[in-house]
Amino acid sequence: MENTAIIQLITDYPVAFIIATGIVSLLVGSFLNVVIHRLPIMMEREWQRDIELSQKPDKEPEAQASFNLIKPDSTCPKCKHKIRAWENIPIFSWLALGGKCSSCKGPISARYPAVELLTALLSMVVAYQLGFGITGVAFIFATWLLIAMTFIDLDKMLLPDSLTLLMLWLGLGVSCFDGTISPTDSIIGAMLGYLSLWSVYWAFKLLTGKEGMGYGDFKLLAALGAWVGWQHLPIVILLSSIVGAIVGISLMLVQRKDSTLAIPFGPYLAAAGWLSMLYGDAIASWYLSTL
Ligand SMILES: [Zn+2]
Repeated sequence: MENTAIIQLITDYPVAFIIATGIVSLLVGSFLNVVIHRLPIMMEREWQRDIELSQKPDKEPEAQASFNLIKPDSTCPKCKHKIRAWENIPIFSWLALGGKCSSCKGPISARYPAVELLTALLSMVVAYQLGFGITGVAFIFATWLLIAMTFIDLDKMLLPDSLTLLMLWLGLGVSCFDGTISPTDSIIGAMLGYLSLWSVYWAFKLLTGKEGMGYGDFKLLAALGAWVGWQHLPIVILLSSIVGAIVGISLMLVQRKDSTLAIPFGPYLAAAGWLSMLYGDAIASWYLSTL
């Protein structure tokens, strides 16, 4: 069996697992670009359909061209030139094309290769830290989800249920197979993750009448709680608040925007959660020793 030979190889040679992870993650990063761009559009279309249906329940839904993560093929947003296979190779195509569309020479955002590179690098760090196994592979998948959520939240101030809840159930499930976090710690982590931000949200809303964050943030912290266990939740909250405050204050100073400027909280949660998943113990002992 060829498959078992590959698994044998990556079990015997950790470097092989890291390299394999890097190659697969480059391709996944390319797909994440599609997810980041299309998933919010798919959600908006669905909301639109629901509104129309509630207004005219008898009306036959109009046949629409299918739009999902697979269809239609990717095109240049300017000239609608269809992206061919060789133009879709992660990072290399962007470099080969000089960051320009092969047809209309319009610029292609550097964010596409950046997301691909980031996906590959972060996944390889996980592969290096955790090695091949249920936790390692599941955590690489979770890293992909976090990258998609981060960029969708930056673009649209939105954390899709289809990503946050997937990560939550996965985290709870992994705790049943893996020795690092017990299922109990994982369940309590998910519960406290949700309830902590939920309480802050309602306290803030009752006091100021404003909404500081959204339900997507609660779900994301619940998902992270399921992965890191309740013991590491304080680290996630502390790290995300510190980074969030630094970035928020510097943005305000640079742009001179007023304090009502909305900054999504999801990317900070995602980054802090990812760091805590990998280095939670090290961060905790460093923190306690510096006190
Ligand atoms: Zn073009």
